[in-house]
Amino acid sequence: MPELPDVEIFKRYLDTTSLHQRIIGVDVRSAYVLKGVSGRDLARRLKGRRFESSRRHGKHLFVRADHDLWLRLHFGMTGSLHYFKDEERAPRHTRVLFVFANAHSLAFEDQRKFGEIGLIEDVNKFLKKRALGPDALDITFSQLREIFGKHRGAVKTILLNQKLIAGIGNIYADEILFRVLIHPATQVSTVKEKAVTKLFRAARYILKKAIEAKADANLMPKSWLLPHRDKGGKCPRCARELKSARIGGRTAWFCAHCQKSASEVRLPA
Ligand SMILES: [Zn+2]
Repeated sequence: MPELPDVEIFKRYLDTTSLHQRIIGVDVRSAYVLKGVSGRDLARRLKGRRFESSRRHGKHLFVRADHDLWLRLHFGMTGSLHYFKDEERAPRHTRVLFVFANAHSLAFEDQRKFGEIGLIEDVNKFLKKRALGPDALDITFSQLREIFGKHRGAVKTILLNQKLIAGIGNIYADEILFRVLIHPATQVSTVKEKAVTKLFRAARYILKKAIEAKADANLMPKSWLLPHRDKGGKCPRCARELKSARIGGRTAWFCAHCQKSASEVRLPA
């Protein structure tokens, strides 16, 4: 499921392939993906324009067309972008195809159909309406400390809540918690300030490093949880078998030995 690093990679891909070219057609192949706009409207309003720039917030990508119209993309569970020559080479699960004057096209591909495409006029208004929290790479330490001070629940559930912090999903929440050796079910109210500082730094480190690795698990350090998080996977720190549990409705992977309780963390009684 695309999280902040994946969407950042999509943004960079779109920026290097699809900007400043006249859009000559928009081919909607699955209308389910459209939110608040019809296929006909999407095509009518984008035709003749150019994508000029893009902006990411959390897991959302916004692409500005000239005259301040924004295409809004959310990648759901399996969404991705593909740029290619010749319309007939569109990937199998193409839902919407943007055709450019240079005979190239950009496909929004999405096998599992949880993706979203919309048209908006004001990104900030949209973020406000969705009540999304600050982007996980923009959040300040004091904002994070305030979130931890104000909310109750498992630390992982807090990290996953897009209304508090936007961009972190299941995989990277586990990775961040593994790096700071905090058990994902730890009650957020028991995480002391020193541990919040560590967590803040770890989140930035992991997300940036994942972007450097092109969000490709194969390119990520073997000392991370990600290459091992599967049945029978071993902790890269202590070689014990990793555990999984349902926390906040998602499957968390962690090392019950290393992440039992960091020195600054008191586990709930
Ligand atoms: Zn371990």
